[in-house]
Order: sequence, then C-alpha cells, then structure tokens
Amino acid sequence: MRVLVIEDEADLLASLAKALREEGYAVDTAADGEEGLYKAQSWDYDALVLDVMLPRLDGWRVLERLRQSKKTPVLMLTARDAARDRVRGLDSGADDYMVKPFDLDELFARLRALIRRAAGRSNSLIAIGALAIDTAARRVTCGGHPIALTAREYALVEFLALHRGEVVTRSILYEHLFDEDDNTLSNLLDVHVSNLRKKLGSGSITTHRGHGYSIE
Ligand code: CA
Repeated sequence: MRVLVIEDEADLLASLAKALREEGYAVDTAADGEEGLYKAQSWDYDALVLDVMLPRLDGWRVLERLRQSKKTPVLMLTARDAARDRVRGLDSGADDYMVKPFDLDELFARLRALIRRAAGRSNSLIAIGALAIDTAARRVTCGGHPIALTAREYALVEFLALHRGEVVTRSILYEHLFDEDDNTLSNLLDVHVSNLRKKLGSGSITTHRGHGYSIE
C-alpha cells in the first residue's frame, strides 16, 4: 500500500514517514499543499494523510481540488479542539480525521480501516482457501500456522488478497508497493513473488504471463 503524507512540520513528516515505512507502507511525502496536490493527482495512492494548516494551499483546498477527480481515501489531521474543522473536513469529502497530537497506533488502525473500506471490505480478516490474512494484525496464517513474512511480502499478499480474483498488473503493483525513493530493479517483484510462493505454497499466487498476478 502506498500512502502520501502532506505535512509542513518537517519533524512530524519525517517521523510519520519512517513509522509508516516500518509498517510496510510505501510512503511519498510533500511539505506543502501545492506539491501534495500535484502528487495526489499524479499517482493512485491507497490513502492520503493530509494536514489542514499547510503553506501555499491549505488542506481544505487540496481536498476540494482532489475530489474533482479522485476518490483517494483521505485522513485529515486537524488542530486540537477545532471542532468546526472536523465537521468541515467530513463535509468536504474527508474520510476520517484525527486531532493533533495523535497516537501513532490509532493512526495506523484508522489508515487500515480506510484502505479496507475503499477496497469494499468491512471485515479485517480475508480467508482464501487455507490462507487467512488478518489485515488488522498484519498477520498471515496458512492452514492455521503463522507464516513469517517481510513487510513487503506482507504488503504484496495483502494487495493481491484485497483484489482477489482480479489480475493485478505489474505496473499497478509497482505503483502501490514502492515509493518515489525506491530505486528497485524491475525483477524485484518476481523475487518477492517467488519468496511468497515458497512460504505460502506454489499455487498461492498465479502468474498471468504478460499481464500480472492474482490470488484466487
Ligand atoms: Ca501544518
């Protein structure tokens, strides 16, 4: 899953990006509203974390303009006790909001919920044959046995599972699993898929030659 964080407080931006990457997200960042809007319009992010008070273009304007073309789930960050902000945020098409300072674990939980809802799922557990993916705990079991996955392997299997039955193209996987700072070779995706097959069983992921991958 790839998220864009738009925040002008450099320390907060850096620590949020780092924490999200540790959770297995691909993360792009923007330090002002204009840059944020440009990136949000240019890529299909799985979610946006959007601060309200931003230089150049504030969070409301970013949201308003983004909504003219995209439905990307947006989690707004508002100042403490700005009750009117919250109402305004939800009215203008934000999907959720958090008041600063916020708890990081709660932000992760809300982001996961936003991404699940956008994929049309209300349940955090995805069961596919012997495979069970707990998107809240970010754990995978196969036949009841826990499988140890790297953050990126987990991200890959979760993305395919959220789109189960669909062929997900390589370019979509690259767009959603890697961020702008990733200088990865194109064959890396194959390495992850091959490692996942070793861990989850050779039939777990289907290759559609020339198209992409799927989980059925
Ligand atoms: Ca700010």
